[in-house]
Amino acid sequence: AAGSFTDKATYDWSSEEEEPDGSARPIQVLVVKDDHTFELDEAALSRILLAEEVQDREVVAISVAGAFRKGKSFLMDFMLRYMYSQASEEWLGEAEEPLTGFSWRGGSERETTGIQIWSEVFLVDKPDGRKVAVLLMDTQGTFDSQSTLRDSATVFALSTMISSMQVYNISQNVQEDDLQHLQLFTEYGRLAMEETFLKPFQSMIFLVRDWSFPYEFGYGQEGGMKFLEKRLKISENQHEELQNVRKHIHSCFTNISCFLMPHPGLKVATNPNFDGRLKEIDREFINNLQILVPWLLSPKNLDVKEINGSNITCRGLLEYFKAYIKIYQG
Ligand code: GDP
Ligand code: MG
Repeated sequence: AAGSFTDKATYDWSSEEEEPDGSARPIQVLVVKDDHTFELDEAALSRILLAEEVQDREVVAISVAGAFRKGKSFLMDFMLRYMYSQASEEWLGEAEEPLTGFSWRGGSERETTGIQIWSEVFLVDKPDGRKVAVLLMDTQGTFDSQSTLRDSATVFALSTMISSMQVYNISQNVQEDDLQHLQLFTEYGRLAMEETFLKPFQSMIFLVRDWSFPYEFGYGQEGGMKFLEKRLKISENQHEELQNVRKHIHSCFTNISCFLMPHPGLKVATNPNFDGRLKEIDREFINNLQILVPWLLSPKNLDVKEINGSNITCRGLLEYFKAYIKIYQG
């Protein structure tokens, strides 16, 4: 039988982590400032990871990373719905219900390079009887100039180092520069870590949004894997640089996979008043969302974070987070 979700963790503090009505919200734990220095909100991170119910639990850390305005937060709000509905069949919600959680609507909000963590850590029973703590992270960069690329690389590296699953959210296709960025980011990460014979990172999922060639490679995970195999293939007649990028990526991750997502429709992409209701999202997108989210988050698929071959608890993750940050702060 599949595992079941237990009650979400409840906290015994009342703090800035909660809205006045007590609901959870995203917390900016890492900020890259205008002068390219990093600031870790250690107090906020500690309150989340050292909450009584979760601190000694093994942690599953799921990060969604990539450039701004590519639908990351929109997707994460559906991931939250799945977590809050305890993986029930009806997790997707009502047709007219606005989407809430990580803020995702366009407009004037200043975009911050950094890491946001959902203030509530979820406790989940895996089918093997283990109870694990699940942490959701939204990681964003800008990628638009030399200086911000370096900031993005550090943020991406950090989130890859502390997550058990990194979802690399990219638009339309896997371009050569997406792979180069990934090489740069993971190189940044690897430099900061102890050398081991193990692969430094766990799962990497290329999530391609607005995929528009379903007749070549079908939507979903199977089409995604075939597509990615082709993109990451190393061949003799390739330029050495292209070969190296591919070898590097293969050497970094224990698991690499890919999911091809259809376009969500024009209302989602262009209507400024769109509030996330299912009714206005293309059916094809919703169908694939119903495959993608359980594939990422169902209890049996949650992998505990490992560092150097050992399982990490929430408390341990906090220590690693602090140690890694120090390295980048120089
Ligand atoms: P983020 O900055 O990556 O977190 O992006 P958001 O989730 O805030 O979304 C940015 C904009 O893209 C919003 O107007 C969304 O309605 C829209 N959007 C969300 N998902 C998709 C998608 O899969 N494709 C397209 N084209 N737009 C999307
Ligand atoms: Mg966002």
